[in-house]
Amino acid sequence: MASEEDLKKLIEDKLKGYKFVAVSNREPYIHKVSGDKIKFFQPASGVVTALDPVLQACHGLWVAHGSGDADRKVVDDKSRIQVPPNDPQYTLKRVWLTKAEETGYYYGFANEALWPLCHIVYTKPKFSESDWNYYKLVNERFAKAILEEIGDQETLLFIQDYHFMLLPKLIKDANPKAKIALFWHIPWPNPEVFRICPWKKELLEGLLGADLLGFHLRYHVDNFLETINHNLEAKVDKVASSVTYKGMETLVRPYPISIDFEKIAKEAASKATQDDIKKVKEDLGITCELIGVGTDRIDYTKGIIEKFTAIDRFLEKYPEYQGRFVYIQIGSLSRIHLDTYKKLNDDINSLVERINWKYSSDHWSPIILIRKYFTPQELLAIYRMANICLVTSLHDGMNLVAKEFIAACSKDKSMLVLSQFAGAARELTDAVTFNPYNPEECADAIRTALTMPAEEREQRVERMKAVVKENNIYNWAAKIIQALLRLS
Ligand code: UDP
Repeated sequence: MASEEDLKKLIEDKLKGYKFVAVSNREPYIHKVSGDKIKFFQPASGVVTALDPVLQACHGLWVAHGSGDADRKVVDDKSRIQVPPNDPQYTLKRVWLTKAEETGYYYGFANEALWPLCHIVYTKPKFSESDWNYYKLVNERFAKAILEEIGDQETLLFIQDYHFMLLPKLIKDANPKAKIALFWHIPWPNPEVFRICPWKKELLEGLLGADLLGFHLRYHVDNFLETINHNLEAKVDKVASSVTYKGMETLVRPYPISIDFEKIAKEAASKATQDDIKKVKEDLGITCELIGVGTDRIDYTKGIIEKFTAIDRFLEKYPEYQGRFVYIQIGSLSRIHLDTYKKLNDDINSLVERINWKYSSDHWSPIILIRKYFTPQELLAIYRMANICLVTSLHDGMNLVAKEFIAACSKDKSMLVLSQFAGAARELTDAVTFNPYNPEECADAIRTALTMPAEEREQRVERMKAVVKENNIYNWAAKIIQALLRLS
């Protein structure tokens, strides 16, 4: 287990002499206009939690899309600002995008082509030449911004996610001394699925500019190696888990991402969270003895329709829970400019309405749907008051909510009910798992969790807490940085 302090020490001891650069689409600090003032805030994200201390310890550089409405007002002539704004430790360099560029690169190619391509949930990817051109253009713009700062210096570059598949090669070609890692936060599909992408060769060649590619699971690593085998004239070494292409070797490794276990566990057990629970229960008028919760971005990969269908079946099959069980769904809106997401929202609304109409009595409705973003602190009360957390992802790289719930929950009363298709199910083997495509199985899983003998439930939760505590977010970052350093 590594702590934030261990990670900082590793950086201070080992990273001397290197420039460390992180790249992500989302920035770690956003400036917004608030009345006649400019305020900044940190978006909630596991990557920001892990990498912000790294950048602070090594006084590095973070390159990201400047998305706040006051972002331009606070940067220098090279679009840079020192952050954290109230205690400057490292440089944030913002890359600017027009509306058309953001639409094509982010909403279009990244989220309408790559997202459905990599999540196997039977939503057809949309491949548009114009989106692809924007994706290329934005990757080139990020490369230019990075090269403006690093020139030909020895640099450790840590790129995040599917927004930047072309970036490793663009940087490597311009600066072969840069050591590059890219972490892929979503699943990698099998070759039969990936082969439909019209620009697969360019995308794979782009990724192979990296020295190290990280995925959540060994399964995704294997899929990636197979995909290379099918699509490029490259040497794939399955034992060494590496690809050699045009004379350059790329190591491919699993690094399951995680959370700040200690922080979440401590705050969830605090008096402040207890007070929040009281308030939330009062606000929502909850008097039921059994509470189920779920927190999802409203996304078709999260299986929210399947979840409510299973809750319907659960109440029908086990009517003794009517009036005794309430399910609270936190659903933060996401990618709402896209039609698929708008439609999903409408479908969820009508289904919840239908189920609540079917079962509700004067004092009780089975589902409470809250369509708003909750801060990480607010979520702790939700997790802590729950008897079950129900995660129904149809396909998910990891699912951090499952790990956050385990860190926050009370072992005296809680259980995780987890889709077998979430990456987290590989580590959280003591959860009650099920196939989200089968409402019957999910309904039974809910009942199993609610009726599990106390001793068994406590032991299972303790074991899951130990797993997440051991492999926390600082471990994740330390392992990747150590692997990158070994290549230097
Ligand atoms: N989250 C949040 N507030 C919300 C909904 C989600 O802070 O209202 C956070 C949640 O705590 C988790 C992240 O967003 O850290 C979602 O990560 P996950 O891996 O579960 O799914 P993703 O949205 O990345 O696909």
